Amino acid sequence: MSLRRPLARLFMTPVLVWACSLALAANKDLSREKIVDLDHLTEVSPGVHVIEDKDHVVLVPNVTLITGKDAVLVVDTGLGTESARRVLQTAERLAKGKRLYLTTTHFHPEHGFGAHVFKGKATLIYNRAQRDELLKKGPAYRRLFSERLGVAEALKDMRFVLPDIVYEREAEIDLGGRVVRLSHHQPAHTLGDQVVSVPAQGVVILGDLLETKSFPIFPWFPEIEDTDVDPVNWREILQAVERTQPKVVIPGHGPVGTARDLTEAVRHMDTVRDEVTKRCSSGQDLASIQKDLTPLLRAQHPDWELQDWIANEILVYHTRLCGSASELGLFDKVARE
Ligand SMILES: [Zn+2]
Repeated sequence: MSLRRPLARLFMTPVLVWACSLALAANKDLSREKIVDLDHLTEVSPGVHVIEDKDHVVLVPNVTLITGKDAVLVVDTGLGTESARRVLQTAERLAKGKRLYLTTTHFHPEHGFGAHVFKGKATLIYNRAQRDELLKKGPAYRRLFSERLGVAEALKDMRFVLPDIVYEREAEIDLGGRVVRLSHHQPAHTLGDQVVSVPAQGVVILGDLLETKSFPIFPWFPEIEDTDVDPVNWREILQAVERTQPKVVIPGHGPVGTARDLTEAVRHMDTVRDEVTKRCSSGQDLASIQKDLTPLLRAQHPDWELQDWIANEILVYHTRLCGSASELGLFDKVARE
């Protein structure tokens, strides 16, 4: 991808950022590179197994399998049929004939677009906001991933399925000697984010509310009419989870972490919020805030992945805190040039 202007990187649309971070080659389907790696299956707490995204492969999530005496709960499916098939086989091996449940941290394709493989074999349980968001936005995300992110093969025989159980704010599943709590808070990374925890063991699964060793993913996609991300709520959820002092923190992407990763993520969000507020109050426009602040944020975490997403993070904070939605026309226009 060639964007000749020195500042063009700062003006890329989120979809372009995603495509660039995938190093998307024309006509190349990347689906085989996006399959969960069962060699990375590890038990991070008694009965809590993670197919870990150790190497931070874009579009490969962490998948968690929680076992009890009576049942096994799978959290997230991986992207498309082949990943989900491998996750289901792993769950069946751990379950040894026990009942299976499936839930997803949020509706995004690499987290939930394998649920069709589980339908009829596991009991699917989602919160209502997530189910509704999947119905509303799912088809557009499928097109986006298939047509622009190079993973059409993974999604070609995927079909949308509905959950068997829907809850509103909170639910508990007793797997037999191990109780798992599912909770839905408020719009943050998506409208239907779900925090999954094993409170007795200090384990929490956050989906894309947290990435370890990485800048956060702000899904701001006006191209497909999805601008629901809310960083203020998001930060509140992370802080509430932080107060529970978890021992094992499982992010959406990146290696399994600890409470320290949560603290770092909250601190980073506070920095961006404060810097954007300060700069827009003093009259700086979005483009110049992105230009000035991006290198400062990179310098704070030079080892963090997904640096291309910083500009979008600033954009979202600016839109929410400084009312810059009118600048989106400019943003999109420059990106298309
Ligand atoms: Zn996501």
